Amino acid sequence: MAGITRKTFIKGVGGAALGALPAAGRLSAAATDESTLDGRMVPDRILTDAIVLTMDDQRRAFESGFVWMRGKRIHRVGAMSELGDVPDTAESYSAGGCLIMPGLVNCHTHLSNGIVRGIFDEMPLEVWFSKGMWSVLNELDGAAGEAGAALSLLELMSMGVTTTAVGEFGTPNNDLPDGVLKAVLRSGIRAILSRMTVDSPDDTSPAQFIPARYREKPAFAADEVRRLQRTYNSDLISVAPEALGVMRCTAEMVVAMHAVAVESGSHFVMHAAASQDARDESRRRFGHGSISELARLGVLGPKTLLAHGIWLDDREVAELAEHQTGVSHNPVSNAYYAAGVARLPALLKAGIRTGLGVDGASTNNSQNVWETMKMAVLFQKQWTEDANFGSAELALELMTRGGAHALHMEDEIGSLEAGKRADVIVIDTERVALAPPQTLISNLVYSNDSGAVRDVYIDGQLVVAGGSHRRFDGRAVIHGARVALGRLLKGTGLDSYIAERGAWQWQRQ
Ligand SMILES: [Zn+2]
Repeated sequence: MAGITRKTFIKGVGGAALGALPAAGRLSAAATDESTLDGRMVPDRILTDAIVLTMDDQRRAFESGFVWMRGKRIHRVGAMSELGDVPDTAESYSAGGCLIMPGLVNCHTHLSNGIVRGIFDEMPLEVWFSKGMWSVLNELDGAAGEAGAALSLLELMSMGVTTTAVGEFGTPNNDLPDGVLKAVLRSGIRAILSRMTVDSPDDTSPAQFIPARYREKPAFAADEVRRLQRTYNSDLISVAPEALGVMRCTAEMVVAMHAVAVESGSHFVMHAAASQDARDESRRRFGHGSISELARLGVLGPKTLLAHGIWLDDREVAELAEHQTGVSHNPVSNAYYAAGVARLPALLKAGIRTGLGVDGASTNNSQNVWETMKMAVLFQKQWTEDANFGSAELALELMTRGGAHALHMEDEIGSLEAGKRADVIVIDTERVALAPPQTLISNLVYSNDSGAVRDVYIDGQLVVAGGSHRRFDGRAVIHGARVALGRLLKGTGLDSYIAERGAWQWQRQ
């Protein structure tokens, strides 16, 4: 019988093009000869005999391939038949039965929120802000933030995330970003931490209103970002300013935070167009959408990252594309508080730098990037009533090279290519949910098995081995989160809210 191709099978049917993601930029020069880690000579590591997905511009994939790491960088990638001579000093590991791909890039989360998972279920966004999150922020100090971040990081990294963006408030507890950054540092992950700030006194919209206690002065917020940058910036960690939203911040604050980003060469981060209410309020205040207001303020691109981007009109989509602004699409979080379905096909068609994010454990509630990939595609199929939208390949690309583009880091991460950072994950393909193997790529996304990630390398360092994080004691992290949440529930009074919200009659001893 003649073979049926996807093209002939669905001939005449529309759908989003797969090639919509932009091409990677030029690799950094002098990238391939690094053979030291923290000043120590380390042997080359070569992973062999695996299925290799490169996610490079040519979309090369090898049924039996190798990934050769040298120091912090990838030295070579190819088919086993191309491996050639290997130096005696190199360490080779067979990865037979495994699939190797670039580390996953999570474009949006709030790591500290790991400890407040499950509290805000069935809570509308405006109530979440006015009654839930503000009181939690009072109790979320450095120690609680560190405990929450360790929990979130353990979950993210065990699922193959090697780079994450993370936003954290610096008021009312100035040490919250410090606590989170300590956990980030310990974990070995690559991270962009944006210090979130708000200052708007506008009280016309209850959903956007900021109680006085949480408002900062632009000069103070700028100094705090600079302090964190001086203390924590490294090869793996970059601290950036974040003006939370164009309505929760004054124009003075948005411009001041963008100026800190320009001055320090860091990213500039914001939440934008995250709800229908925000879209309506933006039109009322400014006469146009929030993206158009950000364009007017001159803060879009070249290293701007916006979270959510749900309620966008055509003019705003064009502005994002024109300014090369990155967007983190957070489909599960958007669904969690019924914020709307983002126009993903429009973003891709316009060539916007689009990645995926899980958002914090308070609005998801997992940090499961595999679920996020699946739902990114499924929500669009449902919303557009077009079963032909997207593919497992598209979802995998959005969580790797797409994320790298959204973070403006495509020269360093997002694909397995000589010269890029050695952020590499190894997935055990011999798992029930990933079988049968003939449809492995589909199974990875649509039948996702978040426990299938075996090994995770970041900058050539093995941080997860055999499914276990090498720098975190899982039991200790879970215990720490329990203790920290216990304190937080008492401090906020949310313990009685949680005890009373269900209908079941719990028999307590
Ligand atoms: Zn967020």
